[in-house]
Amino acid sequence: MKSQRQPKTRIGYGFDSHEFRPGIPLKIGGVVLAHDKGLGGHSDGDLLLHAITDALLGSMAAPDIGALFPPSEAKWKGADSVVFLREALRRVEQAGYIVTNIDSSLILAAPKIGPHAQAIRSRVAELLDINPDCVGLKAKTPEGLNTENTAMAHVVVLVEKRSQKRASRAAGKAPSRPKR
Ligand SMILES: [Zn+2]
Repeated sequence: MKSQRQPKTRIGYGFDSHEFRPGIPLKIGGVVLAHDKGLGGHSDGDLLLHAITDALLGSMAAPDIGALFPPSEAKWKGADSVVFLREALRRVEQAGYIVTNIDSSLILAAPKIGPHAQAIRSRVAELLDINPDCVGLKAKTPEGLNTENTAMAHVVVLVEKRSQKRASRAAGKAPSRPKR
């Protein structure tokens, strides 16, 4: 017999890739990085936020980012990817879950992510309402992949069922829940 019990924790996984193009801003994790090329795409090309969005949606077994925000729709052209992430997070919270932590790997030849890692982790943490020490961010160069003009992102997320107390507080429309 199938159990109707909702799991206490769920995981989600997301992947994204975009091609570098000259003359556009490079945005990763909601942070603009100084570089001579940016990532092309229908929206702002922020592959890390796209992969996080897909991981959040995946944790709920929801339709993916392409299904929710089709590139064929003109209104998403040049869109700030924060909009996608917020919608995915809303779905997670609506189902009664909160984000516990995420881990991510970026694969790109340039620029170096190290100098920007703290800024990216802080911004992602802020967007997900978690502490920056719950945002893993690793960067690798594409050794042997022949993808020097492409950036890729892999993300996993863990979400946990909100406690009853927290759930009723959220239902009471508390302005914002405290940072854990
Ligand atoms: Zn994307």
